[in-house]
Amino acid sequence: RATLGVLGGGQLGRMFVHAAQRLGYFTAVLEPDAQSPAGLVSHHHIQTNYDDPAGLAQLAHLCQAITTEFENVPAQALQTLAQTRPVAPSAAVVGIAQNRIEEKAHFAACAAVSGVTCAPYAVVETTAQLQAVQAGRADLLPGILKTARMGYDGKGQVRVKTTDELAAAWAELGSVACVLEKMLPLTAECSVLVARGWDGQVVSFAPQRNVHVNGILAVTHAYEGNMPAALADRARDAAVSIAQHIGYVGVLCVEFFVVEDGTEHGGLVVNEMAPRPHNSGHYTLDACDASQFDLQVHTMAGLPLPQPRQHSPAIMLNLLGDVWFDTSGHLQEPDWHSVLSLPGTHLHLYGKVEARPGRKMGHLTITGPDVASVQTVAYRVAGLLSLPGLDAI
Ligand code: ATP
Ligand code: MG
Ligand code: MG
Repeated sequence: RATLGVLGGGQLGRMFVHAAQRLGYFTAVLEPDAQSPAGLVSHHHIQTNYDDPAGLAQLAHLCQAITTEFENVPAQALQTLAQTRPVAPSAAVVGIAQNRIEEKAHFAACAAVSGVTCAPYAVVETTAQLQAVQAGRADLLPGILKTARMGYDGKGQVRVKTTDELAAAWAELGSVACVLEKMLPLTAECSVLVARGWDGQVVSFAPQRNVHVNGILAVTHAYEGNMPAALADRARDAAVSIAQHIGYVGVLCVEFFVVEDGTEHGGLVVNEMAPRPHNSGHYTLDACDASQFDLQVHTMAGLPLPQPRQHSPAIMLNLLGDVWFDTSGHLQEPDWHSVLSLPGTHLHLYGKVEARPGRKMGHLTITGPDVASVQTVAYRVAGLLSLPGLDAI
């Protein structure tokens, strides 16, 4: 039997392993943590650092093809693996997605085809650039200063209102390469999942509407009518052209902002892309006839990509570690019994050993016969577990 490999042992790797196993594949996970969500369920667990040459050689030896499950995997490791095995997505595109400066340049390069641009921004890599922005780019304030590399879940970002705050924020972030982005008046956020095969075949999911709380995804609304149809079509087409333009292979998630209409952006602005399945696509496991992880397996194995069909409206609620703590700060298992007694609730726990505030421990997908009943159950679940984000945009 063939073996598929994944660099990284988090929950995305775990769900990839589950999907691969369903098709009869063996899996190999390279991950230093002995207790990782993916390592615990994989046939092979190579327990070493992502850049260990011996570990990478072992992974390549075992596997027919290799993918990655987290964004900040050293692109060099993918490069090494690619010398002997098919690797998807490639080191080159992962490298672009890992650097906001290159990522925005890519979005700009395909703006003519994708029909979307990113928020107005400036690169701040040097003191001279900082001073130039302070002197001449008042249009970017208030804005968000984001580190070019290694940020996720809103980490590595500081909101700034004045040029003084900008200078202080750049120092606070270690004076590393950053982008200053204009703060946009968001009316909503959405993301689109695209899968593209080695042969260029492309399939995609309809856009899902996302609600973030404190920079972390809290709720995903996945059903018809979750956003205006014309915007949804534009976002989906834009994501496909963004994937095609870089010859992407694998599953790609493109995040968009929806801004107040009548602006120069025509309502839709591209934010960033993740070169892998995405938290906002977890509902596809329960609400679609092929999940984002199934498509990841198909792309890697060179199998035909089914155009996924969503069979139920769905709302996904993220379960952060906070849910495991009661009001006086004591650890306690959430009341799954009450949650699971509600119709259409699907609980996914990632097998993480320790709950910590802000840590992604699992998610709940609620499916049902119609949007109204899904919403009703979602509100009841959110009430039971004190989950945020169901009322906000
Ligand atoms: P992820 O975990 O999705 O990779 P990230 O840390 O890379 O997140 P972003 O997606 O850049 O961060 O920003 C996180 C959130 O902050 C966005 O989803 C959005 O809610 C808000 N945000 C970011 N940039 C802007 C902006 N220019 N204007 C308004 N809100 C913004
Ligand atoms: Mg990001
Ligand atoms: Mg984001």
